[in-house]
Amino acid sequence: MHRPKIIILISLLSTLLLLFCATTGPGGKKSLILISTKQEVSLGKEFAQEIDSTNPISKDEILNSYVNQVGQKIAKISDRPDLKYHFSVIDTPIVNAFACPGGFIYIYTGLLNIMDNEAQLAGVIAHEISHIVARHGIKRLQKVLGFQILLSIALGESSQLTQNAISAGVAILLQGYSRENEFEADEFGTYYMTNSGYNPEGMVQLLEKLKKLSKSDPKFFEKLLASHPPTDQRIKKVENQIRAFDPKVENLPFFADNYQKIKDRLK
Ligand SMILES: [Zn+2]
Repeated sequence: MHRPKIIILISLLSTLLLLFCATTGPGGKKSLILISTKQEVSLGKEFAQEIDSTNPISKDEILNSYVNQVGQKIAKISDRPDLKYHFSVIDTPIVNAFACPGGFIYIYTGLLNIMDNEAQLAGVIAHEISHIVARHGIKRLQKVLGFQILLSIALGESSQLTQNAISAGVAILLQGYSRENEFEADEFGTYYMTNSGYNPEGMVQLLEKLKKLSKSDPKFFEKLLASHPPTDQRIKKVENQIRAFDPKVENLPFFADNYQKIKDRLK
């Protein structure tokens, strides 16, 4: 990248950062969460262990380091930069991604395959980071499984009850969230990706892709994202949000070439 471009980008980012700080982030919203961050991380580790042992996790180092690099860039400027974030690719042709409390994010190769630039990937990752930042997963688990069970998982108890609860917890996390939670993850995801230097239009492109897919294979899509709000509404909301940004964001890059090189590895 040329030097003047960097300067423009930095001034643009600081403008966005100011814009962002002025809003109430998901981390700023108060609600009753009994689990501490430390317990949440322990819990996340238990869930991640279960997912890692029951799914084909990609061992492609170049792919992993690429996804990790994009992810860390966004995590760093999120409202929970204190967490250690882990990004893994599940080598299955399913179009999905999900987040575990404590900073564990999974993306399926099926989803990587339908995207065509890094800004879209940044959109997916930023959406999932937002679920963690807003503690959507931990709140849902607390509600469904109860605090005591979560605590016993976090403490690493190895009873049959805890093991069953871990399996149930993973299933809950895979189900997606309420409409409000999804809109919130889109909203903060769009901020985060833009603040990380990605063209926010990538988020719109990603949602358009999901919409197209839901038309071609409604049954498959329904099962995966049953509780997700209608994609049309999500697109409209994100478009409105981008319209309120500094118009210069439209000059932010998509990094299509970077992404294509990685996508070629998936074949
Ligand atoms: Zn979501």
